[in-house]
Amino acid sequence: MSAENSSKKGSLEVICGPMFSGKSEELIRRLRRAQIAKQNVLTCKHSLDNRYMIECIISHDGKKLEAEAIGDVHDIFRLGKDSKIEVIGIDEVQWFDATIVSIISQLIEMGKRLIVAGYELDFRGRPVGQMPVLLSIADKVTKLQAICTLCGKDATLTQRLVNDKPAKFNDPDIVVGGSEQYQARCRNCHHVEYEVEKDRYTFKEFKLKQI
Ligand SMILES: [Zn+2]
Repeated sequence: MSAENSSKKGSLEVICGPMFSGKSEELIRRLRRAQIAKQNVLTCKHSLDNRYMIECIISHDGKKLEAEAIGDVHDIFRLGKDSKIEVIGIDEVQWFDATIVSIISQLIEMGKRLIVAGYELDFRGRPVGQMPVLLSIADKVTKLQAICTLCGKDATLTQRLVNDKPAKFNDPDIVVGGSEQYQARCRNCHHVEYEVEKDRYTFKEFKLKQI
């Protein structure tokens, strides 16, 4: 790599949208194109445990790409800073803690092209983790839409159902012993159950603060 090339900065592309909007499919498509262009690609996905292993990114339409399953966010920097790596893809980026922002920023400074995918809103319609920050610092944002399960219009939200009923605002992220299901929904068909009026108020207040 010449001195001129090594001083070039990289970029950040964020692919977001509700569940079933094709985020992983789009991430795989861009990473495959980079591989066809003979670029060195590092593919990572979030892992719920800290063991280091090779897994796959699998899109809902069955496309697969081998990926490093990362539990400790610092491993993305450790693997990505390698001078041979030109493109870094990260799936399920919303699950990483706040350190992901500085790690991505440093890799951009080092000239890497980062392509990350994740959902930006939780089932309540609230911004998730570091996604608002990543969307703000991105060079390119692709906000995908799914199809609403109920009415067939464009869906921008994820509906969570617990035992076939809309999840409650205060439901924990994992309900023990309940059957859970997720659907893509449009704003009109999306429902969140509020246990007490205070939850609704807190949510409205939160939304106002976002503006
Ligand atoms: Zn709908």
